[in-house]
Amino acid sequence: MQKFSDLKLHEQLLVNIQNAGYETPTPIQAQSIPILLEGGDLLGIAQTGTGKTAAFTLPMLQHLSDRNFSLGACEPRALILAPTRELASQIKEQLDKYGQGLKLKYAVIFGGVGQGAQVAALRNGLDILVATPGRLLDLMNQGHCRLNKVEIFVLDEADRMLDMGFINDIRKIIPKLPAKKQTLLFSATMPPEIASLAAKLLHQPKRVEVTPPSTTVERINQRVIFCKKADKYQLLRKVIKEESTELTLVFTRTKHGANKIVDYLNHHQIPCAAIHGNKSQTARELALENFKSGKIKVLIATDIAARGIDVQGVSHVVNYDLPVEAESYVHRIGRTARAGKDGDAISFCDETENDALKRIERLIKLRLPSENFVGVPEASVKSTRPERPYRDPRALPRGQRPAANAPGKEPQRSPRQEHAPRNDQRQTSPGQGQGKPEENKKPKVGFKFRNRK
Ligand code: AMP
Repeated sequence: MQKFSDLKLHEQLLVNIQNAGYETPTPIQAQSIPILLEGGDLLGIAQTGTGKTAAFTLPMLQHLSDRNFSLGACEPRALILAPTRELASQIKEQLDKYGQGLKLKYAVIFGGVGQGAQVAALRNGLDILVATPGRLLDLMNQGHCRLNKVEIFVLDEADRMLDMGFINDIRKIIPKLPAKKQTLLFSATMPPEIASLAAKLLHQPKRVEVTPPSTTVERINQRVIFCKKADKYQLLRKVIKEESTELTLVFTRTKHGANKIVDYLNHHQIPCAAIHGNKSQTARELALENFKSGKIKVLIATDIAARGIDVQGVSHVVNYDLPVEAESYVHRIGRTARAGKDGDAISFCDETENDALKRIERLIKLRLPSENFVGVPEASVKSTRPERPYRDPRALPRGQRPAANAPGKEPQRSPRQEHAPRNDQRQTSPGQGQGKPEENKKPKVGFKFRNRK
């Protein structure tokens, strides 16, 4: 097995790595660090949890501290673009950790907070700027940041940038960078738009691919529990109470859904908090801090807010709502079983989510072990629960299974229907089918179980 000391990193970096508690490089680190120290461009197919941040920050720190340079105001020497403020903040935290004793200057900028301190940091001169695309463009347009001195450019989580609609911002930022630079692009998946961006951006890149989504899940105990939508609250409470959970990260599709779960769990004396796009930066940071320190044991998050969350010790990931995009499932459950530990991923599947489950199982090439759950009437939930429970439809004889649409396809709707609420939007059980999904994509849910009344 390779050691960090084999990787030609400087003594100070090796000390910092040791202080971080890392013993051996992860596969992405072992493969990428030599390429990056040589100065080559890199296309990294890797997701959060693989150690990719250290893979690109360690060589970056080494290059920047090697090349002596007097810093110009508002002209960073390296730029790391990340899709969310959480991810950007975490990259900055890792820079602080790995860069100790190097006398380099870093700052992170993102939207949703005042720009004063960010502008001041840029004016003081920066070796490394970590930024989300929107705020960076904003500050560039105001003349607070120029990219003409950038020696190293990292585009992190490129596929997520695309999903979140940042690709046009990125296309505006790229031409402002100098032609001669080292460029790194990381993405968990390679949709055509990202492949074409990579082809334009990278110069003779080396490609490093680690743990593709279908194999990342091996250390995670996964299972699915079938239940009615209205029973999910109770099921969540049962999981939290009865499984030996340490820290539980719960994923919902909508911000509204996340808030309703917080209300329910708080009502049942389970301290928890939600993070999503409607929460202020301060509220999100506080929730994350309390979760990291174990003050609260349950954090409810939407996919976007949870993007890149790096919390050690998440013992359970609960997919309260199944994600519409199968890849998100892999991202979500990757929040547990980090740094060599085992973890549990429990997915709740209700009567509207069978197609989503099929897409996930196809992607991970695994049929998830299943259980059924039937709740009992509860005063704190205004249940519209029909009497018949929802059980694993796969356990039924073939002829009796519910009809479903082809995976990934929406049910056919006539032009007139397009403006009418979908079946799933008409649901009125608490926390379900209400509110918009956090992602700006239209969810592809909503098939009918034709033979179920
Ligand atoms: P990342 O994929 O960059 O988000 O990193 C995931 C987690 O792995 C972070 O908590 C890092 O602190 C941790 N990590 C990074 N490199 C190593 C390593 N070589 N050994 C153990 N943990 C690591």
